[in-house]
Amino acid sequence: AVGPAVTPAAAAAALPYQDPSLPVPDRVADLMGRMSLDEKLGQMTQAERGSVSAADVTTYRLGSVLSGGGSAPSPNTPASWADMYDRFQNAALATPLGIPILYGVDAVHGHNNVVGATIFPHNIGLGATRDPALVQRIGRAVAEEVSGTGVDWNFAPCLCVARNDRWGRTYESFGETPELPSSMATIINGLQGTALDGPASVLATAKHYLGDGGTTGGVDQGDTQLSEADLRAIHLPPFRAAIERGVGSVMISYSSWNGTKLHGHQYVITTVLKGELGFSGFVVSDWNGIDQIDGAAGTSALDVRTAINAGIDMVMAPTGWRQFIDLLRAEVQAGRVATARVDDAVRRILTKKFELGLFEKPLTDRSYTATVGSSAHRALAREAVAKSQVVLKNSGNVLPLAPGGKIFVAGKSADDIGNQSGGWTVSWQGSSGNITPGTTILQGIRNAAGSGTTVTYSRDGSGIDGSYRVAIAVVGETPYAEGEGDRPGGLGLDTTDLNTIATLRAAGVPVVVVLVSGRPLDIAAQLPNWNALVAAWLPGTEGQGVADVLFGAVQPTGKLPMTWMSSASQQPINAGDGKTPLFAQGFGLTYETPDDDTSPPTAPGTPTASDVTTSSARLWWTASSDDVGVTGYDVVRVQSSGETAVTASTTTSATVTGLAANTSYTFAVYAKDAAGNRSPRSGTVTVTTLAGGGTGRCTATPTTQSQWSTGYVIQVTVTNTGTT
Ligand code: BGC
Repeated sequence: AVGPAVTPAAAAAALPYQDPSLPVPDRVADLMGRMSLDEKLGQMTQAERGSVSAADVTTYRLGSVLSGGGSAPSPNTPASWADMYDRFQNAALATPLGIPILYGVDAVHGHNNVVGATIFPHNIGLGATRDPALVQRIGRAVAEEVSGTGVDWNFAPCLCVARNDRWGRTYESFGETPELPSSMATIINGLQGTALDGPASVLATAKHYLGDGGTTGGVDQGDTQLSEADLRAIHLPPFRAAIERGVGSVMISYSSWNGTKLHGHQYVITTVLKGELGFSGFVVSDWNGIDQIDGAAGTSALDVRTAINAGIDMVMAPTGWRQFIDLLRAEVQAGRVATARVDDAVRRILTKKFELGLFEKPLTDRSYTATVGSSAHRALAREAVAKSQVVLKNSGNVLPLAPGGKIFVAGKSADDIGNQSGGWTVSWQGSSGNITPGTTILQGIRNAAGSGTTVTYSRDGSGIDGSYRVAIAVVGETPYAEGEGDRPGGLGLDTTDLNTIATLRAAGVPVVVVLVSGRPLDIAAQLPNWNALVAAWLPGTEGQGVADVLFGAVQPTGKLPMTWMSSASQQPINAGDGKTPLFAQGFGLTYETPDDDTSPPTAPGTPTASDVTTSSARLWWTASSDDVGVTGYDVVRVQSSGETAVTASTTTSATVTGLAANTSYTFAVYAKDAAGNRSPRSGTVTVTTLAGGGTGRCTATPTTQSQWSTGYVIQVTVTNTGTT
């Protein structure tokens, strides 16, 4: 909220701390010299918007207010947000020292508390883009929308390294290995801008420190049981990256490390974060997070002193903020929390407030209010959505879809902005339904298909028949957040989705499954029945980006940020752990995979007499030099009644046996990728008449590329002349 200048009267007072020409440390020192203990304790306290009045902010000298996930509903139009913010901020300015509050929100995929804001893909989708510069641009857009409602502080990014897909916060992770979240720390520079006091700069928060994504069983707020070396190797690098990028605050994780709650972990917070990593910003607790330290419900004196002594600087005490202040005052007065510790905390908090320019421009900069949900931001979100799509299967090149003919669309998430946005959208848990403006995936498909294509929709697939070219099932998870999304049991599709897909398949048309989910799902058993599979993650409001990839307006470039399980029992499954996944981390097809058709096959070696007998023939073909991702081939026999699998080969030849006399056979060869996706090869088949042929031997006649079934394949006709 770097907005209009404070009143000239205040500026004219010109105490040293009010003088913007002085260095920030001097201003902080001057201000702290004027503060009572209660004013300092207020700075260390964050209250929840629905549990605090503007008058309370003045009376208790509160340092911060939040609209958090668990908050009472906040106003949801941009202008009313700005009014609310200014009301609280003016209450803070009305205190004797006029110290502005920091107002915090979780704008974790856009300014998601505000109806009408641009909702970007959740982090898992951004991880799939592998595009740190794009993610930085998104950070900037989010900061503009947040600033347009006054808010100064964002509890983002979540830099968790999600190691178990059972965890309900998996979608808040950019990826399962430390490199991806570390690389995406660029979002901090987008949020905070080039300078904290620059236009539309918002203080960022790296969360949740440390090891939130590593809990045993993927249990939210659980215990991360790791050696220190592993904890450092897997979970620390993103925080190091965030600090290098100047992140202003760090939020502590609810979870424990080897049985000790992080909220009370002095070694992890003070020794490692503030000492070793040199973090100079301030540390905030999670929502009532300190209450869990002593294991008993509610806030105790032990909770308070352990947390503050461990190094927490500001406590998110949403409803119990008065009690927190009273307990902390008593601990300080009893000497169990040192005054120096309080001063260190307050110094850190005030430093960020000065650096943000809050003392000079505390109120909402309404020139940014119109950026909330702007067309420029929606275009950026659409770009991110398209880049986040991961094409996992594309049998027979059913994708990209060409316009024309009839397309059927079904599934519970085809026409549902709430489902495609996931948790942390309008409300904490999110909800199904058209809860905020945007483009559903169905609408995106209609737009992309154009007027020459008939697009028919029914939620459950009813009404489909064989006259459709293709059916698209948009299925997956419905919204959830945090522990509500933990899945200790199955990770598969629900029966509604399975029934929808079964209905589409029964019509005998190719089925494309678009999976809207916050994590990989257990779909290996169904995958052979699907012609194509696209992981759309939780794309947010701009469903057009999904259609951009389905119709090939944008080539798919997304790569899996997570290893995709072969079965739920493999959890946890992560890159490099030796387990055999369905799809490896980093996997993602393009429409050019596995053969981009730019260089034709070349002739093979010369076959010899041993290649053919009266009942067998050896087929040869050649890999194109530009084949990408081909790990093997399927040889099938082609007949008008369909294909019959003959043999599979990992080399560019195969022997077909059992050939009857005087019979012609047509075989097709499909290239396959590691996941078994078949993709057509092209070019002139390289099997020539086999040496040793002639009377009494099989002969093989090459044919050029032709179409069979749903794609282009190499065909070769073998004729057994039947006599020796
Ligand atoms: C979450 C945090 C969030 C906070 C405030 C907590 O429940 O764990 O990620 O920032 O609420 O909404």
